[in-house]
Parts: sequence; C-alpha cells; structure tokens
Amino acid sequence: MSAEIIDGKMVAELLYKRVKEDVQQWCKKGNRRPFLQVILVGDEPASIIYTGTKTKACQQVGIETDTMVLQDTISENELTEIIHSCNTNYDIDGILVQMPLPSHLSKYSVIEAIDHRKDVDGFHPMNVGRLSLDQPCFKSCTPAGVMELLKYYSIPVKSKHAVVVGASTIVGSPMAVMLSRENSTGKATTTICHKYTRDLTAHTIGADILIVAAGQPNLIKAEMVKQGVVIIDVGINRIADETHEKGYRLVGDVDFESVRIKASWITPVPGGVGPMTVAMLMKNTLLAAKKSVYPK
Ligand code: NDP
Repeated sequence: MSAEIIDGKMVAELLYKRVKEDVQQWCKKGNRRPFLQVILVGDEPASIIYTGTKTKACQQVGIETDTMVLQDTISENELTEIIHSCNTNYDIDGILVQMPLPSHLSKYSVIEAIDHRKDVDGFHPMNVGRLSLDQPCFKSCTPAGVMELLKYYSIPVKSKHAVVVGASTIVGSPMAVMLSRENSTGKATTTICHKYTRDLTAHTIGADILIVAAGQPNLIKAEMVKQGVVIIDVGINRIADETHEKGYRLVGDVDFESVRIKASWITPVPGGVGPMTVAMLMKNTLLAAKKSVYPK
C-alpha cells in the first residue's frame, strides 16, 4: 500500500479562486477592495521571501496590499505607534506583522497592539481565546489550512485519535485546539507532544491522524506510526544538497518515503500544508473586510 497524496497546492488554488470570486462580488456591491497592511521589520532574507509570497497572493485574488519596511533598530514604542495608526485607519482591513521580530522586540506586545478585528494572522490573545471557546474568530492560518485539507479530502476527524507533535503558539497549540474543540470539523481525542515528551513513539504509534510541526527533519519514521495513519507534515526544513540549483532542498518533519508505505494519506513537502497557509490568510483578510468574523 502507498498513501494517497494530499495535494495542498491544488486545494489552495481552489481556495484562491473562491476568494477571488468573493472579492469581485464584494466590490460589485460597491464596497471598497479589501486591504492588507504588511509590516516587515528588518531585512531578513526569509522574511522578505514570505512577505513577497503574500503580496503575490493578494494580487492573485484582487486584495490590495502594501508592505511597510521598517529599520530593525525601531523601538517597541515606535512600532506599536505605527500599529495603532493602522488600527484606526479605516482603509486597512487586515494587519500582519511578519515574524520573527528582532530580539529586542517582544512579539507578544507587538501582536497585542494589533486591533484583534484586524489580526488576520489569528495570533492576538482575543482570537486565541475565542478559538479555545469555539467562538467565531480569526484562526491561525497554518492549522486552519490543515483543517481545510482534512475537510476537502473528507478525512474523518470526529472521535479519532489525533496526535500533534510540536506545541508552538502559532502552529501546534492552535492545531490541537482546532482538532479537539471545533464543533463542525474537530472533536478528535487529541494528544499534544513537545520536546519534553518522554517516549514520542508511545504516542505517535496510536495516532489515527498525526500532525507534525516540530521543525526537525525526518523526525517521524515508519516504525513510529501505525498502518493506515493520516500524516500531515507541517515542517519545512532546509537540507544542504549540492545536487540542487539552490544548494539545498526542502524536507518535512516526516521521513516521507518510508512513512508513505504505511499511511493512508500523506502531505508532501513542499506542496502540502505550505500553500494552504497563505490561502487562509487571503480568506481571513476578506473576512476582516466584511467584518463578519464576529457576531454583530
Ligand atoms: P517552533 O520551533 O516554534 O516550535 C516547534 C515545536 O516542536 C515546539 O513546541 C517544540 O517543543 C517541538 N519540538 C521540537 N523538537 C521536538 C522533538 N524532537 N519532539 C517533540 N517535539 C519537538 O516551530 P513552529 O511551530 O513555528 O514551526 C514548526 C515547523 O513548521 C517548522 O519546520 C516551520 O518551518 C514549519 N512551519 C510551516 C508552515 C507552513 O506554512 N507549512 C508555517 C509555520 C511553520 P518545545 O515547545 O518543548 O520547545
């Protein structure tokens, strides 16, 4: 047996198409085009690439966007002042501060400065709290993208044993909340593992659905999973490889070739979860423009 491939690229394209049509409808009704303000602090190459990808996605779906590039010497006060002015600017629907920030800035203070109704990344404590209460909110884009993939492929979640490896505040933790709490798409029995988990295999081996977001190349091997498991590999790791033009290749947290033989479904890296993250950001930005995320 070899697993069916979960094609995130294809599902993301469908989502782009849907968002584009919705944006057109929204504008046809006389509404202003949705606007995403991206804030980039410093000139870290990976962050420049990520913000570029988001700009391209906005162009694809007809969302207006601007990237404000700030010096990495900016103080926290100056940055939060800028965020406050975006909060009160009615032409801006969504605000995204590209992470990671330079070490002298607290990501928690910066995220909290964003009006939670414009927090299209879903990182603000108000959105994280509402997620835990299964209330309407902006959901963190990567785990929301995973839930969308499971839904698209009609992979049952309810009453299954889902194991999440990785407990970060932006991926693993909200992932576990969505899998366990959400009424419409979740209700799995959920285990969350992290660096201090004693015997990782003891947990992964029982998983019906295994979601891995640890940032550790090839952490999950075939002997750690059961036959028929659904594998969602969130990890994106660069491995040096002279045979590739760029001198590296991307791998996930799962040993794809060995695990795919046992799994029923599996996401590839690249082309699995990655494309869904940006697609969910587009969906969130449109929601912010419609202001329909929260009940009136
Ligand atoms: P973080 O480094 O913030 O978190 C990693 C988590 O994994 C931590 O909770 C850590 O535990 C845990 N962990 C690390 N090593 C192990 C281990 N050996 N066993 C069990 N748990 C472990 O990373 P992120 O959550 O931001 O990202 C995770 C991965 O996902 C990265 O490869 C990243 O590039 C990728 N990513 C992909 C995205 C996409 O769009 N596909 C979007 C965002 C991230 P502890 O809490 O104890 O430190």
